[in-house]
Amino acid sequence: MNVFEAVKENVTARQAAEMYGIRVNRNGMACCPFHDDRHPSMKVDKRFHCFGCQADGDVIDLVARLYGLNNLGAAVKLASDFGISYDNKGRASPRPVKKKISEELKLKQAELQCCRILSDYNHLLEKWKTEYVPETPGEEWHPLFVEALQKQTYTEYLLDTLLGGTAEEKAGIIKEHGKEVMRIGERISGLAASHKAGCHERSGLAPTGTDGR
Ligand SMILES: [Zn+2]
Repeated sequence: MNVFEAVKENVTARQAAEMYGIRVNRNGMACCPFHDDRHPSMKVDKRFHCFGCQADGDVIDLVARLYGLNNLGAAVKLASDFGISYDNKGRASPRPVKKKISEELKLKQAELQCCRILSDYNHLLEKWKTEYVPETPGEEWHPLFVEALQKQTYTEYLLDTLLGGTAEEKAGIIKEHGKEVMRIGERISGLAASHKAGCHERSGLAPTGTDGR
């Protein structure tokens, strides 16, 4: 279904008129926006018709005239404002807008995912710092204790930037460190899974694949 069919099927002229601030009374009459109309002389239903100035058409004509758009522009505006999906094969103009939105959305999702992972990781580091603290001076340091000491400041920095940085800074973090954070995420889920399975409470948590520094 193309954008014209999709819009005409789903939105009446009356719904569009109301959406864009034209008051339609109980009888389906409205003051005509296309001429100086003091008493409602426009009938608005599936289509619209003005008995004063003879303006007439369907929902797309109405919006095209209201906003000075061509028919395609009006149809795309309606589809977007009413959340109507359509098949835009062969129609170039809606595409760039959609693509831009989906890229912004992707970035936003990546930000949220990285925040979640980094915050989980930070909690783990906090835990490891106390859980694996060496008990005797001569004892060899547990790798997770070492990792906690090495990584916590860095993790907090990434997290702070993602939470409070500018849009550019956030995008920069995703670009520079996104993959690395995803790897941390995979490792954390692996740890959580083996933890849940109850195997290797302490020794089994030895980092797998983290010594690629
Ligand atoms: Zn009129």
